[in-house]
Amino acid sequence: MSAPKKGDLSSTEKELFQVITAGDVQEASRLLGCKDVRVNCLDEYGMTPLMHAAYKGKADMCKLLLQHGADVNCNEHEHGYTALMFAGLSGKTDITWMMLDAGAETDVVNSVGRTAAQMAAFVGQHDCVTVINNFFSRARLDYYTKPQGLEKEPKLPPKLAGPLHKVIMSTSLNPVKLVLLVKENPLLAEVEALDKCRRVMELICEKCVKQQDMNEVLAMKMHFISCVLGKCASFLKEREDKLDGLIKCLLKGRESDGFPVFQEKFVRECIRKFPYCNATLLQQLVRSIAPVEIGNDPTAISVLTQAITGQVGFMDSEFCTTCGEKGAEKRCSICKMVIYCDQTCQKMHWFTHKKVCKKLQEQREKQEAESAKLREKHSNGEDVCVAIE
Ligand SMILES: [Zn+2]
Ligand SMILES: [Zn+2]
Repeated sequence: MSAPKKGDLSSTEKELFQVITAGDVQEASRLLGCKDVRVNCLDEYGMTPLMHAAYKGKADMCKLLLQHGADVNCNEHEHGYTALMFAGLSGKTDITWMMLDAGAETDVVNSVGRTAAQMAAFVGQHDCVTVINNFFSRARLDYYTKPQGLEKEPKLPPKLAGPLHKVIMSTSLNPVKLVLLVKENPLLAEVEALDKCRRVMELICEKCVKQQDMNEVLAMKMHFISCVLGKCASFLKEREDKLDGLIKCLLKGRESDGFPVFQEKFVRECIRKFPYCNATLLQQLVRSIAPVEIGNDPTAISVLTQAITGQVGFMDSEFCTTCGEKGAEKRCSICKMVIYCDQTCQKMHWFTHKKVCKKLQEQREKQEAESAKLREKHSNGEDVCVAIE
């Protein structure tokens, strides 16, 4: 079959584009089985069926097309848009993820020099930006599971690649979340395994800094994960309460307001220890964090998260007090001032939260009483105005 030409479509291919728009997966599946249908055919704008499906936000359709061998990196679109760019524009994180998982290149730019992440940011699809910026393919990690050059053994035992990749792909960088991910996997929660993983993280970090188009964001992320893994190893070595002890230290709030001082100091120290001191990102981070007194906003983890994931502000989403996961909805029923993913996260936090819960409750009640008073005054004021009129 010759390479597809723009707009050169068989009638069945034309039908396929229509079926994709309509979202009929079954019919699309039938059409893809036809002889005169090429999965990477191009419409008059150079869009493939996969680009259409991604842009329309149809996940099942994308999956079907990928199964039929759709080229995720086809780049014949008139403005240089890729399927990943269309996925980002659609605002669908699952489709964005699917494109990345299928091997979509993240640093390709369109005709005006924008990457997929930049385009998604431009249209306000910040969740898609997060997915793209945090993506690190399993294949890139698997490189370290094979002996290189004169090595007798690979740097990363293959059995560790899966669990480590899960840590790398965590959507939350909250150290508690990362420690929980380590803890849940017995292969990883072991000093020797952690040391190997750390070494690999540092190598990737170095590669990100030294490659031609430097990726400081990924370098910083890898460095941060390496620091957390290092901390896990030292608690496993030195403490009887092991990783539970580390989680407790990270969550423990100070007497006055429950602010987790250990965690804040730990995150600041990780950032400061970034080995490439000329990096612009490092300097930016230090500049934003240094003037902030410990206990005030923004916290180091929020500054770091914003720098790495591109999430702007935390306005319309709630983050779990324990693990930093997005979309937490369960409030502490007493103070209503902290929020958790679920009971597990709440239970983990209770040993320290219980010391300030009452105080927070009183604060909230006082605030509510005051704002009620204000509202009352305000409405009385309006009455006065009405009376004068
Ligand atoms: Zn949580
Ligand atoms: Zn509470």
